[in-house]
Amino acid sequence: MRIDLHTHSWVSDGSDAPAEVVRLAATAGLDVVALTDHDTVESWPEAIEAAQLHGITLVTGAEISTRSQGGHSIHLLGYLFDPAEPTLAAELEQIRTDRVPRLQRMLDGVRAMGSQVTWDDVVSRAGPAVAVGRPHLADALVAAGEAASREDAFNRWIGVGGPAYVPKRAPSTIDAIRLVRGAGGVPVIAHPWSRGRTDSMSPDDIAALVEVGLAGLEVDHVDHDEVSRSQLRAIAADLGIVTTGSSDYHGTGKSAAYALGACTTSDAVYAAIVAQATGGSPVTKGR
Ligand code: AMP
Ligand code: ZN
Ligand code: FE
Ligand code: FE
Repeated sequence: MRIDLHTHSWVSDGSDAPAEVVRLAATAGLDVVALTDHDTVESWPEAIEAAQLHGITLVTGAEISTRSQGGHSIHLLGYLFDPAEPTLAAELEQIRTDRVPRLQRMLDGVRAMGSQVTWDDVVSRAGPAVAVGRPHLADALVAAGEAASREDAFNRWIGVGGPAYVPKRAPSTIDAIRLVRGAGGVPVIAHPWSRGRTDSMSPDDIAALVEVGLAGLEVDHVDHDEVSRSQLRAIAADLGIVTTGSSDYHGTGKSAAYALGACTTSDAVYAAIVAQATGGSPVTKGR
């Protein structure tokens, strides 16, 4: 089977409707796709309907913003959790709420450096998104002709450490893992060493997360080179956790390198994730 466990719709910072992500996944020949918008489950109902229509299996999920003990931004994929579990739902809502003033501060930062972009521009670029973020500000900068692309806006102003960058308030990675497990879900660290940031998470850090319930690491990801992948695979094997692969598809929000199915997860790992989940099951046609 071809299994892609990490994609985004316009409910967060992708460019396609949830149903369109699912339709495109089926068209791309995937058997299983997980829709994992940032900090929200808002895309689930539409995606579930589309999966049934297009005959592809959908894994419901989210990519949760968290912060490590060392202060690094860590993304946690949660799969097949119960969206009605109140503690996790409340935390996701808090993260989304806190994203707004944080993005306004970043807008203030770029305006102080001469940008003419307004909050209304950002809101209009964000469109249907319920989790607003840096990509929407980047899109507004592109629309105003002040940046060439999202990547350009991140490189110049709002990437980590950039002159207008403001970190997000987020739960600790440990707390988020506990919340996902508490809602019957399966937590996997997304792109642990993305963009060459191997310092953001050490083997000991990962071991500590396994102690509280971490199920796996997303290893096959466009942002990881071959050396990182083999090191991460060895760490996961050592700790007895699974390794996944996925595209992190964002539609036109990321380059073609992140196309649906760009990286995939094995049947055995997929089965292990489904077996651990008590908060939900994959959605297939006729169910
Ligand atoms: P935020 O959640 O607001 O901090 O924004 C993070 C999101 O921005 C990530 O999930 C990616 O989708 C996107 N992103 C991060 N770095 C870059 C980059 N250099 N170029 C384009 N998009 C990026
Ligand atoms: Zn994103
Ligand atoms: Fe991410
Ligand atoms: Fe992502």
